[in-house]
Amino acid sequence: MVENYRFTAAERFLRYVQIDTQSDPQSSSFPTTAKQKDLSRILAEELRQMGIADAHMDEWGYVYATIPANTDKKVPVICFCAHVDTASDCSGTHVKPVVHKNYRGDDIILPDDKTQILRLSEYPYLQTQIGNDIITASGTTLLGSDDKAGVAEIMDLANFLSNNKELKHGEIKILFTPDEEVGRGVAHVDMKKVGADFGYTLDGGERGSLEDETFSADGVQVIIHGVIAHPGYAKDKMINAMKIAGRILDALPKDRLSPESTEGKRGFIHPVRVEGIAEKCTIEFIIRDFETPGLKKKEDFLRTLVEEAVRSFPKARFDYIVTEQYRNMKEVLDVHPHVVDYAKEAIARAGLELKMESIRGGTDGSRLSFMGLPCPNLFAGEQAIHSKLEFISIQDMNKAVETMVHLVQIWEEKA
Ligand SMILES: [Zn+2]
Repeated sequence: MVENYRFTAAERFLRYVQIDTQSDPQSSSFPTTAKQKDLSRILAEELRQMGIADAHMDEWGYVYATIPANTDKKVPVICFCAHVDTASDCSGTHVKPVVHKNYRGDDIILPDDKTQILRLSEYPYLQTQIGNDIITASGTTLLGSDDKAGVAEIMDLANFLSNNKELKHGEIKILFTPDEEVGRGVAHVDMKKVGADFGYTLDGGERGSLEDETFSADGVQVIIHGVIAHPGYAKDKMINAMKIAGRILDALPKDRLSPESTEGKRGFIHPVRVEGIAEKCTIEFIIRDFETPGLKKKEDFLRTLVEEAVRSFPKARFDYIVTEQYRNMKEVLDVHPHVVDYAKEAIARAGLELKMESIRGGTDGSRLSFMGLPCPNLFAGEQAIHSKLEFISIQDMNKAVETMVHLVQIWEEKA
């Protein structure tokens, strides 16, 4: 069925990327930029045009839609989720997508800035794309495949199902979120309205890849209280909190436990912000580990460093505040192994080699998993994300759609 289908993911993608939906980490409104709704409004409208009657955008910019079941079996409700916003790392305004047909392995020079060159030697994944059609931006902006690829692919799945009603499936929910890139993608999501048992985010890279693990994450705030005095008469009185902060930062290990010295499954302690005056200085850290108990170990270690630094100043004191940020979604997914197993089978049925990966970060999926929607991350085809060299192939996008088609069938078959 899917063999004879004329995919629409790329055509949609080329339209969606031209709509600026950049989110803003500095903004405190929700969504952080109103322009994200420009795309969400269109998505809801296009879903309604496909006959999905309840498709709508809410006041926060979330798009919800339901594709009703067409089987008598009791199939768990599955949600497909993607985010509409793009990262703030480089411009998302006036994105001009360029299709490079039948890629032959040559350098791709982006037309609006000839210094932006996509080279096979720097992006070895391109080796798998020989003969495929590659989409890039024009050299001055990001492309926005993260995550408009996921958006376009889910839209194409909806289109496929509305044109192939004989393909049996359970109830399917669609969720498009704003503000994922600033970590607030699920801040106003209505889980009742999502109404699904299990979910999949479409926000991954290489075709065939599946991510069922993220970091577990805490934040630590260290507030150092010094002693203030008039600097002209401060002898033996003043204790400068900023100088204690400097000692703490200097005491952090140089060759381990930092983002710049770790990869794979190793976590880290990472200072992200310092703010202060002589009297009082705050250091904010993020703590990351794939094992949740590993967070506690790192937090205890950091506390020891802080204690040692502060100890040399008897009149100084400190507060140490740990805040939970998110948890490794594997803790939830291991309780529901079939969610990942069915995805593996769908990838195999799409003729792809499975690549299991762990995310050195958090996703909306990890947050959704702990909000009651176990939610691994499926590949969407996005590459070199958050950069001007971002690219994606039309063929990878179509494979993502095909994988979802198999996935909804598998859920129906196994019910
Ligand atoms: Zn993303």
